[in-house]
Amino acid sequence: MLTQTPEEAHPYDYDVVVIGGGSGGLAASKEAARLNRKVAVCDFVVPSPPGTTWGLGGTCVNVGCIPKKLMHQASILAESRKDSEAFGFPSAGSNAVDWGTMVQNVQDHIGSLNWGYRVALRDKQVKYLNEYASFVDKHTLKTVNKKGKENKITSRYFVVATGGRPRYPDIPGAKELGITSDDIFSLPYNPGKTLLVGASYISLETAGFLHGVGIRATVMVRSILLRGFDQQCAERIGEFMEGQGVDFIRGCVPTALERVEEGKPGKIKVTGGVRNRKTTFLRACVTQPYSCSQASTTTAPPTRTGTTRWSSPSGGTRRPQR
Ligand SMILES: Cc1cc2nc3c(=O)[nH]c(=O)nc-3n(C[C@H](O)[C@H](O)[C@H](O)COP(=O)(O)OP(=O)(O)OC[C@H]3O[C@@H](n4cnc5c(N)ncnc54)[C@H](O)[C@@H]3O)c2cc1C
Repeated sequence: MLTQTPEEAHPYDYDVVVIGGGSGGLAASKEAARLNRKVAVCDFVVPSPPGTTWGLGGTCVNVGCIPKKLMHQASILAESRKDSEAFGFPSAGSNAVDWGTMVQNVQDHIGSLNWGYRVALRDKQVKYLNEYASFVDKHTLKTVNKKGKENKITSRYFVVATGGRPRYPDIPGAKELGITSDDIFSLPYNPGKTLLVGASYISLETAGFLHGVGIRATVMVRSILLRGFDQQCAERIGEFMEGQGVDFIRGCVPTALERVEEGKPGKIKVTGGVRNRKTTFLRACVTQPYSCSQASTTTAPPTRTGTTRWSSPSGGTRRPQR
């Protein structure tokens, strides 16, 4: 689309406007600027249902790969502490994490990355607009900032790099009481015993690091693990995780969430149904992160609520857009 030859004159504010300041949008904007184009990036995070927001850099940096890998690192450290006893080190005692310290340090690291991305855009003369963009016509965007102030900008070309967000199941209580991967990495309190709905890689990885840092994790699986992945590998992963102590509820979907105890985390009752069977679901399960991509309830299974008590979510965090 763009070459190093000079852009012919046009009446627009920019040569290129990129919508979305994630991995894709930032790379595209910097490359267009390198080709001497006048470039802007619009990046705006619509708060998650519990109210979590974050800064520049998109999913990977703020609520994806980076915080996930840091929490996996915490989990690996917990395992090594335990293993170290077999090598003659004194007992490490409990492997339970201080959740607040872990989250604070993960968020501090992300904050420094947010800042680095802003500086990189400035250095490359890419204009950063912390505004939500929508098309008015093929050369015009309406943008709205967090105070609701509207603006219009025009551009010869646009790059749409808006990424994706977690999908909630359409069941009572899901949005009010459930949280997703958008919330877990900055959750200000230990989530406690957690139910992960869906068996995507995000769900399994979250179950893995929660378990690793000493939090009981249960994965509710509608049908298969890791749809789209090699199923032999997927099942091996499931077996390994079960061997490590992660619980799995197979062939089951949630049908309702209900708060049974206030507090942070409090307790949430999750009613579920066995898919495509005329039996009832015997275990009421819990809380927390819905995985990013799974968890839809396409069938309406017969249900019966259970009484097991589990922990609950609530309360997102709002980080300044840096
Ligand atoms: C928990 C988790 C773990 C992951 N782990 C890995 C991993 O290990 N390895 C890997 O390769 N991938 C991983 N991913 C996937 C990876 O994060 C995404 O594929 C990647 O971030 C997508 O980049 P993107 O630029 O397309 O979109 P995003 O990073 O989602 O960026 C899009 C941006 O556009 C903004 N936006 C959307 N609409 C508008 C609008 N109208 N106006 C203004 N701004 C808008 C959004 O708020 C967002 O900031 C993970 C994802 C998750 C959720």
